[in-house]
Amino acid sequence: MTEEVEFRGLFRTSPSMNLVPGRWYLGFVCLTCSHRFGVMDDPNETGGTKVGGRGGFIVACPGCSATHSYAADRMVSFQAATAQPAAPVGNVELG
Ligand SMILES: [Zn+2]
Repeated sequence: MTEEVEFRGLFRTSPSMNLVPGRWYLGFVCLTCSHRFGVMDDPNETGGTKVGGRGGFIVACPGCSATHSYAADRMVSFQAATAQPAAPVGNVELG
């Protein structure tokens, strides 16, 4: 089952910092560096949220600081990584 969220108007917002691993967020993919960031919690916690409306968001990417205006229908639902990305995963050869 999908829930629909509709936005009207243009919102100036800030990216969500400190995403909790395993939780779902609504956010955007940066037009400059392709970094994916959240701007709010996904109210459904499912990843099936559909976002529509004629609204949009003005938000600065937490990765590269580029500020863009994103249409609401570009919003993506994603689950924050469940693993800490601090260290690369896989075989690391120490030399
Ligand atoms: Zn960016």
